[in-house]
Amino acid sequence: MSKIIEFVIPYDQDLPEYLAKNYQVFDKYQILGRSLDARKAPKGRKPKVHYRIRVLEGNESPNFENFPKLEMEPRPLIIGAGPAGLFCALRLKEYGIKSILIERGDRALERMKKISKHWRRGEFDEESNVCFGEGGAGLFSDGKLLTRVKSPLVHYVLDKLVDFGAPEHIKYESNPHLGSNKIREFIGKVTDELLSFGSEVYYNSRVDDILLENGKIRGVIADGKEYHSNKVVLATGHSAKGLYLKLHEHQVPIVLKDFAVGVRVEHPRKYINKIQFGKFAGDEKLGAARYRISYFDKEVERGTYSFCMCPGGYVLSSGTEEDGLVTNGMSNYAHNSPWSNAAIVVTVSKEKDLGSKHSLAGLEFLRSIEQKAYQISKEHSNGFSLPAMTMGEFLKGELNSDPLPKSSCPSKLFKHDISEIFPEFITNQLKKALQEIDKKLPGFIYDEALLIAPETRTSAPLTITREKNFQSAGVKGLYPCGEGAGYAGGITSAAVDGVKIADALVSGLL
Ligand SMILES: Cc1cc2nc3c(=O)[nH]c(=O)nc-3n(C[C@H](O)[C@H](O)[C@H](O)COP(=O)(O)OP(=O)(O)OC[C@H]3O[C@@H](n4cnc5c(N)ncnc54)[C@H](O)[C@@H]3O)c2cc1C
Repeated sequence: MSKIIEFVIPYDQDLPEYLAKNYQVFDKYQILGRSLDARKAPKGRKPKVHYRIRVLEGNESPNFENFPKLEMEPRPLIIGAGPAGLFCALRLKEYGIKSILIERGDRALERMKKISKHWRRGEFDEESNVCFGEGGAGLFSDGKLLTRVKSPLVHYVLDKLVDFGAPEHIKYESNPHLGSNKIREFIGKVTDELLSFGSEVYYNSRVDDILLENGKIRGVIADGKEYHSNKVVLATGHSAKGLYLKLHEHQVPIVLKDFAVGVRVEHPRKYINKIQFGKFAGDEKLGAARYRISYFDKEVERGTYSFCMCPGGYVLSSGTEEDGLVTNGMSNYAHNSPWSNAAIVVTVSKEKDLGSKHSLAGLEFLRSIEQKAYQISKEHSNGFSLPAMTMGEFLKGELNSDPLPKSSCPSKLFKHDISEIFPEFITNQLKKALQEIDKKLPGFIYDEALLIAPETRTSAPLTITREKNFQSAGVKGLYPCGEGAGYAGGITSAAVDGVKIADALVSGLL
């Protein structure tokens, strides 16, 4: 029987040496958990690492699941090749089931070329961009794999990612991170594996409508062509506006939900390292420092929090419409850009701020902010540069004549008062929250930090309601899935949801 040991060692201690010396354990062990604790580093105490280790005995080998081999005709249709759609197709493959995957964007390589043209020259492609194309929004992401979802399926997803080429340590790190470059290295293999198994995968095919008959799904229409099936998985992410409108037209049950809106804040990476690691900042073993901050204003009952923090990362222009601007962030595996960024977002309540209006009110609210940013960019720059100002200017409420500090953003930035983009309650709340956050993370207020706007796609502002059997509450055979349907909030949780849907699809066959 294997033995589990837990211990804490200084961050710069060599693990194999420690195990050999203290436990006489040499190569037969498996790391189950690893987390860095640098909370006392700003006060000069050495950061520590918590380990959870399984010491393996004899010829022990890990368990793997046995999947019964099943058949499903007609083949299920999966719309969207993001983490949710791809993992749904991969899980069905385990059961021997061939699916049909339909994705509006290009394959990753072609997609990357188009994104680069958008960032550098403003040539925007509505089908292939930071959110659309092979890999979904996850492809151009920071690749953080941390999730709050507590499910054994998280291990299934992480194991699969490692099988495809992700580094082994994502299985046990408390903050697993891949970086955009690692995801890009292996994402194509997922599609290739599905194709060689016999699943069908159609890129550059946008689904424009669903086919219904007596409250049951019959298929979809993509590029004027009908695809028929009595099982359709809708994994189209949070930016599939056209499809949301169609679902609404067909009276598919959708409900409004709370969401959050704000700005990307960018500091020099060294500065954030210094705040978080004190005198240990700069040690390669510690890497680039993260932060996670939040403030709840009891007076107005509104939260503000950091989201998608990208240490040593890049701020991106990540819109999905020609006439709308959106910011987001990513990093590479090495976390090595000279800047660290995060979104700082303010919650928008469906009751208080949108008056619980119709189910698409959140989409309209976000769209109006994105369009405002675009109009400002068109008037003062070129329509694709992003508006930005320094934190000092934002807090003072006026612009100075200094040029903007350098930024990681591959798109151009232009100086503008970003408070013009938002409703007043967001700007006011952001100002108040920054002051409060600075008390929790002293030094966060830094005059030369950049605020780039607007950050509007933190989650879907709605839920496509589904029942216990994972099918839409109004349409039999339609399986809303992943972030766009309101059932996930990141790469891992979206992938887990895709797996759950696959299991739900086969449950009737077992
Ligand atoms: C820049 C950026 C950085 C991020 N960083 C992180 C991170 O570090 N960690 C993390 O956990 N999450 C991150 N996220 C969020 C994460 O990427 C998403 O939560 C995740 O990708 C959601 O997965 P999904 O499969 O549900 O949807 P998506 O990934 O959005 O995939 C949906 C797919 O459906 C396709 N589609 C849409 N409409 C249609 C249609 N009509 N017909 C056919 N296909 C369609 C799209 O092209 C897309 O490929 C980031 C997102 C962005 C944009």
